[in-house]
Amino acid sequence: MRRRDFLASLPASVLLPEALAAAGMRLGDAGPVGEAGRGGPYALVLGSVQDGGFPQAGCYTELCEHGRRLQREGRGRFVASLALVEPEAERFWLVDATPDITRQMDLIEEPAFRRRAAERRPFDGIFVTHAHIGHYTGLALLGNEGLGIRDTPVYCTAAMAGFLEANAPWSLMVRQERIRPTPLAPDTWHQVGDALQVQLLPVPHRNEFADTVALLVRGPQATLLYIPDIDGWHLWHRDVAREVEAADVALLDATFWSLDELPGRTVEEVPHPLATRTMDLLQDVADRRGARIVLTHLNNSNPAHPRRRRWRAGVSRSPGRRCA
Ligand SMILES: [Zn+2]
Ligand SMILES: [Zn+2]
Repeated sequence: MRRRDFLASLPASVLLPEALAAAGMRLGDAGPVGEAGRGGPYALVLGSVQDGGFPQAGCYTELCEHGRRLQREGRGRFVASLALVEPEAERFWLVDATPDITRQMDLIEEPAFRRRAAERRPFDGIFVTHAHIGHYTGLALLGNEGLGIRDTPVYCTAAMAGFLEANAPWSLMVRQERIRPTPLAPDTWHQVGDALQVQLLPVPHRNEFADTVALLVRGPQATLLYIPDIDGWHLWHRDVAREVEAADVALLDATFWSLDELPGRTVEEVPHPLATRTMDLLQDVADRRGARIVLTHLNNSNPAHPRRRRWRAGVSRSPGRRCA
């Protein structure tokens, strides 16, 4: 089985204008985002792990201990998130507000961002894909007890906006005019900023509180597809291979590597596509268009977490824990 040209995502930069070069980036060195984005707009990968983080609370498996080591070394992996940046216009958008938001905002090194943060309006908008803890609870750290942001649109579906307006503590943030839930119609382009357009793509997912979307981001030179959570490719009304082929970079839900992480479960019971199957499904696309498929939203049981050699080809000896 060929499995070439798939990248395990890390907190590294993906540049929209240079998406093809970005796809060739060697992941494994997290580190600072460096030269990202001189000039044109770019997307920055702020995190690539599942909602519960890496390590997860109270988890002392070998993999989670590895996650702790990375954190101590300043190379920690954070929960899946992106920043979209127009550096010249000094405009910034966040895609999903995670529990790691404090450290993730530090990855945005543009001086203008820090100046704007001091003015309590660092983001021009925050996109929220859905109401699972890894994707929106970071908003709390931007509220009263934290940064205390002002008048920041939260772009999401109508159902997600309704959820934020109706439930504390988010409803308090709305009343205080810190966040402004702003529904965007799905499946249509929305202009954000001077150079970026975004489309919300509804995807099937466990929707206990609201619904779930993926994001398609279009810059002047490249398109990025971002699907952190989906129940299964076969459940989507779109053809994932076609969508990936149409994009320049695709960051895809790879929560679980294989069924080895989920003892006693069948593939039908797994609420995410297995990374091994995703790679089989998309290998032809990767071969035709080059290495532009990045695996993200990795669970703490996922052996694709770099870096120890024995984890690369096989699976962790640790059994799977909670799923996303
Ligand atoms: Zn998630
Ligand atoms: Zn989810």
